[in-house]
Amino acid sequence: MCNCHEIDVRDLGISVEERTVKLKDLLQRVMQGSPFYQEKFRREGIDIGQINTLQDITKLPLTTKEELRDAYPLGLQAVPDEKIVRIHSSSGTTGSPVIIPYTKNDVEVWADMMMRCYRLAGLTDQDRIQITPGYGLWTAGIGFQAGAERLGAMAVPMGPGNTEKQLQMMLDLKSTALASTSSYALLLAEEISKRDLKDKINLKVGIIGSERWSPKMRARIEDELGIDTYDIFGLTEIYGPGIALDCSLHDGLHYWSDHLLFEVIDPVTGESLPDGTLGELVITTLTKEGAPLIRYRTRDLTRILPEPCKCGCPFPRIDRLLGRTDDRIKIKGVNVYPGQIEDVIHRVEGVSSEYQIILERDAGRDTMFFRVEIEHADDLENCRVKAKKLDKAFQDLIGVSVEVECVAMGALPRSEKKSRRVIDNREM
Ligand code: ZN
Repeated sequence: MCNCHEIDVRDLGISVEERTVKLKDLLQRVMQGSPFYQEKFRREGIDIGQINTLQDITKLPLTTKEELRDAYPLGLQAVPDEKIVRIHSSSGTTGSPVIIPYTKNDVEVWADMMMRCYRLAGLTDQDRIQITPGYGLWTAGIGFQAGAERLGAMAVPMGPGNTEKQLQMMLDLKSTALASTSSYALLLAEEISKRDLKDKINLKVGIIGSERWSPKMRARIEDELGIDTYDIFGLTEIYGPGIALDCSLHDGLHYWSDHLLFEVIDPVTGESLPDGTLGELVITTLTKEGAPLIRYRTRDLTRILPEPCKCGCPFPRIDRLLGRTDDRIKIKGVNVYPGQIEDVIHRVEGVSSEYQIILERDAGRDTMFFRVEIEHADDLENCRVKAKKLDKAFQDLIGVSVEVECVAMGALPRSEKKSRRVIDNREM
């Protein structure tokens, strides 16, 4: 029994045998109903009769976001029209948007996964959940809403923006939980602190998602709002938010393995990577009907954590998301991601979250300069000690050596865009 679900998890079908049956059923279903996968498998010469174990999934081709875009508008639909009850769409900032059709069952499975997230975060039918993500084509708000209703909690469906109204409702309705992006949670926290309202609010839990946030930002939100935060993960192509959440131990995110199969691959070669190795998360929707996806490349970086969680929840875990595969910096043959750098910084005391990376190439040799703000930067001995600790952490955690330069707090330019943290002079 786990607090993420009231019923015994043995009823959910998370054993290897049960998940294998679900995978084979999924392949049968797409071969019958999905023109998208019929065509893709025919083109690639796939015989689904060869897929007999969960490991065999690596014999199937990967599915990319570009392919989903090319299927616009309803090319991913894998069931007859009368089974579809709703669509959602991912943003179309580049190219066509992706449209995902949902059956009644898909909508219910999603609500159930979201309800488990709330439970894992310790919420019950006594709670009042203020929902600030948007409602509409994008999946976020309605997912939080459906899960709250399934839990029996009181949903306060605010949607984004209008901070005055948010604060008023938070006070008057005594909201106990906040569903939000990390940047909006921080904005609310700052407003609450500015108005000296911290003692008047009733929030105890934040369910925070949709963007990567550094441990330092998380600590600030928790401190200023006086809450515990839970990191929620999801993407529109795969239901929406609520497919994974960290538990009270905050050591990785549990994912709902009765509905989803997670793998990690090398983002460059596409090869499967062993558990524990950092790479690109690939998801197969075992039970989805409207638009099932097989080996979908999320472009999100994480690793599968092989050990069971100390919290006792039987669902497996991934590490917290460490950024996007597109943000990769290649240095001395090693791939480095911004999330890993934040990890390094987090482990050395007295170092701020502000840094810059300068890459130089001299006589064919790459050097990585790491410029970072530290407390008491005028103390040279302190700088030397911090630089040594940082270099060691880089070597231990990422496998590259860096030249550290410590600067005073506030010395680095502030920018909204994380890309300006990396200055690559190697092309010149
Ligand atoms: Zn746990």
